[in-house]
Parts: sequence; C-alpha cells; structure tokens
Amino acid sequence: MRRLYFHRDSERGVKGTYDWLAEELEELKEALEGKDKEATEKEFADVIAWLASLANITGINLEKAAIDKYNGKCPKCHQSPCQCTF
Ligand SMILES: [Zn+2]
Repeated sequence: MRRLYFHRDSERGVKGTYDWLAEELEELKEALEGKDKEATEKEFADVIAWLASLANITGINLEKAAIDKYNGKCPKCHQSPCQCTF
C-alpha cells in the first residue's frame, strides 16, 4: 500500500484518508447484511487497504503494531485462546 498509494495518501492527509476508511467500513457493514460473499470479501480488502494507508501516512507500521499488541495471545489475559470474561 505504501508503494502503491503513499504519495496520493499523503496529499489527501489524515482526515481525508480517515473519512475514506469510515466510508469503506460503512460499505462493509452493508455487505455483511447481504449474502454476496464475493462483494463482502472485496469490502474487507478495501477496509484493510484504507487502514494501511492511514497507518502509512501517520508513520505507523501496521503489521508491527498488531504483532506488538497481540503476538498470538490476548493482550489482557495473555492467553490463547482468550480467556477473558466479558
Ligand atoms: Zn483475554
């Protein structure tokens, strides 16, 4: 995503990129309410692409952030699978 879109994402800025992510989340919600699995899959792809774009322009390494926080176990109870009671 950085290689593909960093220059465009940087020009759009954090607010504009966040707004696109929010819009894609809404589209994912709508896809989840339907029965078209292929369309839902594409919306998941759009959401993760926009999330990666937002991370790139804010200087966050998304993969590192996810691994640092979760690293194969729940960050609260430190178990896998999670044993937290909600
Ligand atoms: Zn847990």
